[in-house]
Amino acid sequence: MEAIYYSPMLLGACLILAIAVSATALWFTTRPIPAPLFWMIGAWALVIGVVMFATFVVTRSPVLNVIGNALQLVGEAVLVLGVFRFIGRPVPYWIIPVSVLIVGGVNIHYWMYDGNSDFLMVVYSIVAALLPLQAVYLLLSIKDEPAIRSGRFLVAVCLGLYSIVTFARAWYAWEAFATGQSYAQPYESFSYLLPYNFGIPAMVMAFIGMTLMTMQRILATSNRNAKKAENSAQRFERLLHISSAGIAVIRDGRISDSNEQLEALLGVARNELLENEFILYFKKKDREELNAAIAQANGELIDIDVKRPDGSILNTELRVLPLADQSGDFIVELRDISHRRTLEDELKRLATVDPLTGVFNRRSFDGLFSRALQLARRQKRPMCLAIIDLDHFKEINDQFGHQAGDVALKQFSQFCDKQARGTDVFARIGGEEFALLMPDTDLEGALSILRRILDGVAELQLVDMGRLFTIGASAGVTQYEIGDSIATLMKRADRALYQSKEEGRNRISVAEAE
Ligand code: GH3
Ligand code: MG
Ligand code: MG
Repeated sequence: MEAIYYSPMLLGACLILAIAVSATALWFTTRPIPAPLFWMIGAWALVIGVVMFATFVVTRSPVLNVIGNALQLVGEAVLVLGVFRFIGRPVPYWIIPVSVLIVGGVNIHYWMYDGNSDFLMVVYSIVAALLPLQAVYLLLSIKDEPAIRSGRFLVAVCLGLYSIVTFARAWYAWEAFATGQSYAQPYESFSYLLPYNFGIPAMVMAFIGMTLMTMQRILATSNRNAKKAENSAQRFERLLHISSAGIAVIRDGRISDSNEQLEALLGVARNELLENEFILYFKKKDREELNAAIAQANGELIDIDVKRPDGSILNTELRVLPLADQSGDFIVELRDISHRRTLEDELKRLATVDPLTGVFNRRSFDGLFSRALQLARRQKRPMCLAIIDLDHFKEINDQFGHQAGDVALKQFSQFCDKQARGTDVFARIGGEEFALLMPDTDLEGALSILRRILDGVAELQLVDMGRLFTIGASAGVTQYEIGDSIATLMKRADRALYQSKEEGRNRISVAEAE
């Protein structure tokens, strides 16, 4: 008969052990979610409590009875606290000491004075029935987090059932206490059998509900994260395509993603671009610099030419940045700067030439002169400098107008520039004053060039608004001598020019070094 008494208790202990083992597995697999840790600890406290109580039944040890009962209540309380933790409410830890004090107190009183186990059962059951009601109330009262609604409902119902069973036990125990009824065998008492036959199965179902709602939450979170990832992928894609720059995502040196602008810049269709080595689209001599820029990925702008498969070259500006998403990918931004480059070239050109005549201006003449002078010095080669000035140019302006003067200056410059050789430098150094630098030329050679120029100028048929006119010019020339500087050469050529003017114009004079 005793075996029948023990069997529900043994079964109950085994079921709670099953909960404890499952709760441990749940805690292990769902770390760091905090609630399963509570459920694991609560379940193990219950197991130890029940085993102690079963041992007490055999040994009749009061200590085992008191501690066993207390541990069972602690276990139950911690399970309830886990629900608070799971829902994210402040955890009412106070329920542990309060429950233990009430039941422990009555339990000790029972052993010391009273001896009525039915009254102890009444108090124990009421406390044990009240504990899960707090969790039930909490689970049914919250409205948010619809993803865990069914799991929450299952836990609430099962804990509610457990509570009802435990209240029923309190009622039967009260009846026994009030009527002084005594049972020949404990298993004849409902209050002993109810928790094992109904209470613990309800607890098992509640634990299944706890597992369910934990899994529901994990699933909802991962769905949310997947949605977020999808959103950010879509945004990245959109950014990629609205950018006005060509963009390549580089993985291990290869293009793993790109936009339409990059296709246009590189002159390659996207499907052919993907998985190709990025540096292949640049000149061999620039690839080392490009690889370094990718390795550094500091966003610094570099000017680099794209070499398209059709052989054409495109001036671009490029910068590399890490994608900063742990993938180790890089973003390369490529912009067409051929327009800017053209402007820059034009600005450079404008800075070196005279806008009216298109020949070198004074500034670039000075630079070229100084380089030519160094060369003549080092190589001990002859060099001549001439200054040419238009004769009576004021009269041209006065007679035909300033615009006609401009036409004359232009045509004169074009003519002289044509007469000069590739190595000569012809420049406008003043209003109607020009310089002709002739490297590698002795005085004889210079004179023949100048003669050709002056003769040609005299024959120029200039036209402005239908009116024909001619111009003449005078020149002064000098040869470079060792020790000459730019200033002395200019001064000498100027002196020779003055002499030509003095002697009647339209002629060439030579100034020798003093
Ligand atoms: P000379 O034979 O002594 O050189 O006489 P000139 O009249 O040429 O000499 P001068 O230096 O007195 O006069 C130069 C004139 O050149 C004065 C100026 O009006 C004219 N001139 C200078 N620059 C320009 C220009 O860009 N366009 C035009 N149309 N005239 C210019
Ligand atoms: Mg003049
Ligand atoms: Mg002049």
